[in-house]
Amino acid sequence: SKDFDDDNDPGRVRVSVRVRPRNGEELISDADFADLVELQPEIKRLKLRKNNWNSESYKFDEVFTDTASQKRVYEGVAKPVVEGVLSGYNGTIMAYGQTGTGKTYTVGKIGKDDAAERGIMVRALEDILLNASSASISVEISYLQLYMETIQDLLAPEKNNISINEDAKTGEVSVPGATVVNIQDLDHFLQVLQVGETNRHAANTKMNTESSRSHAILTVYVRRAMNEKSEKAKPESLGDKAIPRVRKSKLLIVDLAGSERINKSGTDGHMIEEAKFINLSLTSLGKCINALAEGSSHIPTRDSKLTRLLRDSFGGSARTSLIITIGPSARYHAETTSTIMFGQRAM
Ligand code: ADP
Ligand code: MG
Repeated sequence: SKDFDDDNDPGRVRVSVRVRPRNGEELISDADFADLVELQPEIKRLKLRKNNWNSESYKFDEVFTDTASQKRVYEGVAKPVVEGVLSGYNGTIMAYGQTGTGKTYTVGKIGKDDAAERGIMVRALEDILLNASSASISVEISYLQLYMETIQDLLAPEKNNISINEDAKTGEVSVPGATVVNIQDLDHFLQVLQVGETNRHAANTKMNTESSRSHAILTVYVRRAMNEKSEKAKPESLGDKAIPRVRKSKLLIVDLAGSERINKSGTDGHMIEEAKFINLSLTSLGKCINALAEGSSHIPTRDSKLTRLLRDSFGGSARTSLIITIGPSARYHAETTSTIMFGQRAM
């Protein structure tokens, strides 16, 4: 299978598509209707039915049918990025799609009772921790929510106005106010993730919003103490005085806000503001992804907090993987088409 290593263009975005199974309601009310899409995983194509007679075929890096396991999705979408992070490169994994199509299932599922159900966040940590035990690697995480251009700490919800810092010299992006937890083992991570999930739910209940309108961003900080012997040329080492070096990289895993259009026509001012802000982040992300796909030297990351957070983990030497999620039902033709186009523009 194609991954970043047999690709001469590491800054390119890897784009996969996953269709979720019909839910109970769709099984009943759409029983007489064919699915909107036909997947051909062996040739990595998706056929979108346009009307009864025509369909359009699109190519992706990976195509996952409704029977694809969480493990396979992890291996196709996330593993190449995680391997890059373990080799010292930053990386981003994002899920984009209409609410209810499986973004959170794909990236955030904790799978307490069934390890087979675990999503990308848990599997990524599992892989990273496995490596950490055999090398001098420390693993830390932060977990943030971005809603209406405001960043809240999901591990300490009272911190609801976290700011982004960008190092003028190195371009390194950081969130100095965010809680950082050193992760010891997978059970520890599962507990922390559960705290974040509970806080996300509570925060959204309190704000009277839906989690579908916020972005959840898990950052995994990997620090590897470079061993004296494992490094050849060391400009920092002076004579026989060994200076310990640390190689830092980070992985961002993003459960994006629902991509569906929010109704802007309401008289409720709050809704209009919200629609504007949510469109700002996703529109801005789309522009950056398009610029990356076109090989542009200017990636317009300044326009939104989401893209500012992604700035140093996106393009360049960083590896980026996008999974778009879609539902099978023909009644979401417009949203599904728009999601597929978002994915295609990233390639
Ligand atoms: P989103 O985060 O995009 O709004 P969710 O991840 O919450 O969507 O998924 C909506 C529902 O569909 C959930 O009940 C979820 O468990 C279920 N679901 C999504 N994808 C799958 C899948 N691939 N297999 C089984 N159930 C799924
Ligand atoms: Mg969700």
